[in-house]
Amino acid sequence: MRRVLIATSNPGKLRDFAGAAQVHGIEIAGIPNFESLPTPVEDGKTFEENARKKAEEYSLAAAEEIVVADDSGLEVDALHGAPGVHSARYAADEPHLADANTDDEANNARVLRELAQVSPEKRTGRFVCVLAAARNGKTLAIFRGTAEGIILDAPRGSNGFGYDPLFYFPQIHKTFAELSPEEKSQYSHRGAALRQFLDWHEKQFPR
Ligand code: IMP
Repeated sequence: MRRVLIATSNPGKLRDFAGAAQVHGIEIAGIPNFESLPTPVEDGKTFEENARKKAEEYSLAAAEEIVVADDSGLEVDALHGAPGVHSARYAADEPHLADANTDDEANNARVLRELAQVSPEKRTGRFVCVLAAARNGKTLAIFRGTAEGIILDAPRGSNGFGYDPLFYFPQIHKTFAELSPEEKSQYSHRGAALRQFLDWHEKQFPR
């Protein structure tokens, strides 16, 4: 079976990737000794820059393997695209300088605070997921998936993580925190990017 290594320590992400890849005849695995490798600094201004950097650096630790890394976050139009690349640490006083993630709850509270005076029709935004595939330190391809939604003024639902409870997806009249994992992968930014990667892989490395 053809193999792809995913640069993540998050078992949930690995499971998502493995489930979708199996039908394409691709085996998904983590990077050997991932925890002991130096963590790339995510200081890019775009999701693309960060995903690329992670994929390239981690691919040097696994010669000849295809290594995939992702970067993702929430863009809110009324906040000029924030939290964006700072989504995981938005509650920090200076998210661009913070070196540790902040609580989901605190991140959500900051978004709600900043949108307090914004009317419902202006609370548009999107989740973005960018995947970079690299081999031997070079990026081979980049994929971007998005999901367009509305930021609610109070959380709804208890599934998922991050900003899911605030992210209302009009197409199915639910927040992302009200979806099962299967439904979420069908509609989410991450599912969309992953499907693009799998199509590309199929063409590049036919069975
Ligand atoms: P990372 O790409 O795993 O570093 O995620 C960045 C941050 O973006 C997460 O900590 C969440 O705050 C947010 N985020 C990314 N994807 C999702 C999602 O599917 N649901 C909710 N929040 C997300």
